[in-house]
Amino acid sequence: MLNALSFDIEEYFQVEALRGLVRPRDWDRLESRVAPVTLRLLDVLERHRVTATFFVVGWVAERQPELVREIARRGHELGCHGYAHLPVYAMEPETFREDLRRAKRTIEDAAGEPIIGYRAPTCSIVRETLWALPVLAEEGFRYDSSIFPIHHDRYGIPDADRFPHRVSAPGADLVEFPLTTVRLAGQNLPCCGGGYFRLLPYPVVRAALRRVNEREGMPGMVYLHPWELDPDQPRFALRGLAAFRHYVNLRHTADKLERLLDDFAFGPVERVLAERGLIDFMGGLSKPPKPPALGAPRETRGAPRPPDSCTGSEVAA
Ligand SMILES: [Zn+2]
Repeated sequence: MLNALSFDIEEYFQVEALRGLVRPRDWDRLESRVAPVTLRLLDVLERHRVTATFFVVGWVAERQPELVREIARRGHELGCHGYAHLPVYAMEPETFREDLRRAKRTIEDAAGEPIIGYRAPTCSIVRETLWALPVLAEEGFRYDSSIFPIHHDRYGIPDADRFPHRVSAPGADLVEFPLTTVRLAGQNLPCCGGGYFRLLPYPVVRAALRRVNEREGMPGMVYLHPWELDPDQPRFALRGLAAFRHYVNLRHTADKLERLLDDFAFGPVERVLAERGLIDFMGGLSKPPKPPALGAPRETRGAPRPPDSCTGSEVAA
């Protein structure tokens, strides 16, 4: 069973929990950490012969187009995580459309290829913002991965469909791949990404994803952020639940991710959806391999092979 692996590429200071402490106009003055952390992550994925989807914040793509190009060069899928990392419920439909267009254009210009996937900041497609789905379709997106079928104070549609499906809203010719939950005692419980992934012991995460794959016969959607793999990031004066959610177990995320990559098969979202006949496969592993960057050691920077051709040996030049 191929599961989807995704990363929301944003700076550690762009998360919703910090909105009251860090103003967007101060972002340019703060230390940027997204590129080195993401490059380390790319090396981890290459070692495991895994490709994934990277939903990039437009603001980051504008300042670091070379990072976007490097993600594409290593055979991963690029997607859109908004321009200014604003939750959809903080925008009107027209400002949402402008933010979306600006981000899509910036990421596509940097990557040199079209993108078809979207993830809303803070999973902010909720019942009140379902108007965003037809806007996404009109702006050329083919799938969304923003709906969390859980109860939470900031997001979630608790009774939403839990697995990839075609959206039935009028005007929204789009596929939704919800964030993964496991069904226990009549409840949908989050298990496979972000703070939940950091909080839960690894065997619990593994059991949850196995249950989804084996009992329900469905793929999971795993998601993480670069700042969750960066225990040395500068800390802000968050308190209580916000501090806990943002900083819990940062030091163990990378190890847990590697264990997950050993135990399950992963690919980019577009490939998982294509395997299930929900979209046509456009890019990812069907793209011709790109030449290594100039000056890069070939044995570590070569394009990754598809996981099914993995022989267990080192990547040959
Ligand atoms: Zn985000």
